[in-house]
Amino acid sequence: MEPIILPSAKECPFCGSSRIVKGERYFAMCVDCGATGPERTSDATERRFVSDWNSRKQETNIARLLEALQLLYQETRDYIEINNLGDPHHNVSMQKAREALKWKFP
Ligand SMILES: [Zn+2]
Repeated sequence: MEPIILPSAKECPFCGSSRIVKGERYFAMCVDCGATGPERTSDATERRFVSDWNSRKQETNIARLLEALQLLYQETRDYIEINNLGDPHHNVSMQKAREALKWKFP
């Protein structure tokens, strides 16, 4: 029997493959590297599996860091402007923060 591809599953976190199929013991298996997860249980549904497979702790951490950087950037820029302290992008840290935030908030 041909394995069923799960189109709504994100790519494999280990090898980047998008060929994620339904497994027997596990809900999903990467065809290319063999990564599996999460294990099937009686109360687990396919919808919950996709949510579990797609949740990436690293992405959550990055999102939190971006939010914190954006707030810090805005507050610092406001502080410099309100107190008339000159160009808010004079500091290297402000330049780097603005560059880092460009891809997320162009
Ligand atoms: Zn893989």
